[in-house]
Amino acid sequence: MHKPNKKMKRNSTILSLSLILLLCISSFAPSKKMDARPTNIILMIGDGMGLSQISYSLLTATQKMNFERFNYIGFSRTSSSNHKITDSAAGATAMSCGRKTYNGAIGVFTNKQPMTTILELAEKNGLATGLVATCDITHATPAAFIAHQPSRNMYQEIAKDFLATDIDLFLGGGLDNFNKRKDGDDLTRQLRVRNYDVLTSLAELWNYEPKNKKVAGLFAPKHLPKMQESRGDYLPFSTNFAIDYLKKNKKGFFLMIEGSQIDWGGHDNDAEYIRRELNDFDIAIGKALDFAELNGNTLVIVTADHETGGFALSGNEDDKTQDGIEPKFITKNHTATMVPVFAYGPGASKFTGIYENTAIFDKMVELFNFSR
Ligand SMILES: [Zn+2]
Repeated sequence: MHKPNKKMKRNSTILSLSLILLLCISSFAPSKKMDARPTNIILMIGDGMGLSQISYSLLTATQKMNFERFNYIGFSRTSSSNHKITDSAAGATAMSCGRKTYNGAIGVFTNKQPMTTILELAEKNGLATGLVATCDITHATPAAFIAHQPSRNMYQEIAKDFLATDIDLFLGGGLDNFNKRKDGDDLTRQLRVRNYDVLTSLAELWNYEPKNKKVAGLFAPKHLPKMQESRGDYLPFSTNFAIDYLKKNKKGFFLMIEGSQIDWGGHDNDAEYIRRELNDFDIAIGKALDFAELNGNTLVIVTADHETGGFALSGNEDDKTQDGIEPKFITKNHTATMVPVFAYGPGASKFTGIYENTAIFDKMVELFNFSR
């Protein structure tokens, strides 16, 4: 046997250094895996927001939109259990409970039995929870995250379901369903007894000083105004407000924010209504992304429950209006087309590909590491 020469010695040194490096990397691997879980999830639902709705805003925008800040994008198949075309109740229930159900169902399965929602799971696991919408808070999309009723039209029963939970914050319209009820109950009084500050005007929201109380914001008898009327920056403001409020919980939070009226622009076949509502929603998305970028432990998911209007960006080169874009609609109702899903933050890569709307629930539960 000959003695190892200088070159061999150097090679063995490199080899042992590499081994040490490899050991170091592998010992860090588990914590890296844990880092890929978000502490907070902000789910943002643009009701009725298909690709053409987003494209129309992008084509008419004068600056970069927040939608362009996402790297991970997938598609959600939106059918309900009883129809290829979903409504907002079944669409939201698919995302809140992870099961396909019938159109009109609020947090209940096809047999009308209640299912546990992601918001309820978050509560059970000690997270802070919130809902923000630009419609009546008892309307289908926010309702499906907190209530369990066989029909979306049971607004007063849905309002009562809010009191069966410990939700930390909800902001929207729908005051009438809380204090002008057939049963004569005043749920705003009951909320106050349960340690909620009940705010009934936007001025109260603008000037609110956080206390050690939960917040119920019911800013309109029914829905909030359109952007084209007098809503101002309610949605971006409420997005920041909710995040600032919920982030105090060290265990994390779940927050659902709905751009409710993009859908109504579709039902009205009104492209300008859609554009204004979507641009407002985009500003709210920017607030969520700004927080997620700084925070590092927040997953932001932006998607829709379905597309509305069969919206298309038609036109020809000879038409000089709107740079040749002529928005058209094929229906006053919802369509069966897939909707995009945008994700940013820890776990965002799980949202690429094509999957059922129910998978959004599954992915959130998995990322939060909740047992069902
Ligand atoms: Zn609709």
